Amino acid sequence: MKFRNFKMVDYVVYGSGCFDQLGEILAPRRVGDAPMIFFVDEYFQDKKEFLSRIPLQGKDKVVVIDVTDEPKTKYVDQVRDELVAEFGTVSGIIGIGGGSVMDMAKAVSLMMTNPGSSADYQGWDLVKVAGVYKVGIPTISGTGAEVSRTCVLTGPTRKLGMNSDFTPFDQIVLDPALTKTVEPNQRFYTAMDCFIHCVESLEGTYLNAFSQSYGEKAQELCEEIFLQKENWDDDADEKLMMASYAGGMSIAYSQVGVAHAVSYGLAYLLGTKHGIGNCIVFDKLEEFYPEGVVKFKQMVKKHSIDIPQGITKGLTDEQFDTMINVSLGMAPLWENALGKDWKEIMTRERLRKLYERL
Ligand code: NAD
Ligand code: ZN
Repeated sequence: MKFRNFKMVDYVVYGSGCFDQLGEILAPRRVGDAPMIFFVDEYFQDKKEFLSRIPLQGKDKVVVIDVTDEPKTKYVDQVRDELVAEFGTVSGIIGIGGGSVMDMAKAVSLMMTNPGSSADYQGWDLVKVAGVYKVGIPTISGTGAEVSRTCVLTGPTRKLGMNSDFTPFDQIVLDPALTKTVEPNQRFYTAMDCFIHCVESLEGTYLNAFSQSYGEKAQELCEEIFLQKENWDDDADEKLMMASYAGGMSIAYSQVGVAHAVSYGLAYLLGTKHGIGNCIVFDKLEEFYPEGVVKFKQMVKKHSIDIPQGITKGLTDEQFDTMINVSLGMAPLWENALGKDWKEIMTRERLRKLYERL
C-alpha cells in the first residue's frame, strides 16, 4: 500500500483523576470469570493508597513488573507462561507505568493468543492474531508508547519491537496526576524522548503535514514546560502528557532519526536505557540537528540535569563494531534522517567517530 493505513488506539480517556473511572471502563470487557491482570511498575508496589485504587474483582491479579532492565523477550514469555498456567485465559491486561510496563502489557497481551516466543514476532507485521484486550496507563510521560503500534523488546539477537496492527492499545487512560511522583532527572530523560521524537520527525525527509502538525505542537509544549516555566506544576504534568501523545502521533506517520539509530546501539551493547541514551547521543548531534541541540542544551542547563559523558571510553574495536552494526541496521531511521543516499553520508568510519564522542 502506498499510503500507510494507520491503526490507532480505540478509546482515550483524559483528565486529572480519570484513573478512578477504570472500574467502569473495564466492566463491559470482562469475559465470564476470566480475570483482569494489572501490570504495575515496581515503583508502586509499596504505595498502598495507589494500589487500593486498582478496581480488583474476583480472580483479578496485580503483577509487579521489574523495570531494572528494559523488557526482554524472555521476560515476556515467562510472564505469559505463568498467566496461562494460573488462569488459562484472561479478560485483559492493563499496563500501569512507563514505556517499559506499557510495552510489557502490549507484548504479553499479544503472546496470550499467538504461539511460540515473543522473539519470533520481533519485526514488522509478523503478529497474525489479535491479543487479549489491553489498556495502557502511563505514569511517566514522553515515550509515546501509549499511542504507538510497537512494543520494543530486547531479544536473543536484536532489540526490535513487535510492530503490527494488533499492537496498539484498545484503551488508554491519560491521567496526569499519576506522574506527580516521578523524580526530576528521570522525568527529564523520558520527556526528552518526546522532544527528540519531534526534532527527528520535523527535520526528517519523511515529513508530511500530518506528522508536522503533531510534532510542532509537541515540541512547542516541551519548550514551554522546560524553558518558560519557573516551577514544575500540575499544568506541566498535563502538558507533558499531551506532548508525549502528540509526539507519538507525529512519529507514527513519519519516523525517528539519528539519535534513536545511535542510541539503539548503546542500548544493545551497554544496556543504556532509552531516555537517557537518547539524551547522551542528542547532546552530540549539533551537525545534524543544530537548532534542536541548542534548545536541548538550554533545557539541560536550566534544569541542572546530569548528562553522562565518556560512556564508550575503553570499548574494544569489536564492541564498537557491534554498536555500528546494530545502528546501521535501522535503515528507515537513517533514510528518514539523511535521505536515500544515507549510506554514503553515514559511513562506518563516521559513525565510529560519533560513538567515540559519547
Ligand atoms: P521506564 O518505564 O523504564 O521507567 C523509568 C523509571 O521511572 C522507572 O524506574 C520507573 O519505576 C519510574 N517511574 C515510572 N512512573 C513513575 C511514577 N509515577 N513515579 C515515580 N517513578 C516512576 O521509562 P520510560 O522512559 O517511560 O520507558 C522506556 C521504555 O519505553 C524503553 O523500554 C523503551 O524501549 C520503551 N519505548 C517504547 C516506545 C514504543 O513506542 N513502544 C517508544 C519509546 C520508548
Ligand atoms: Zn524514543
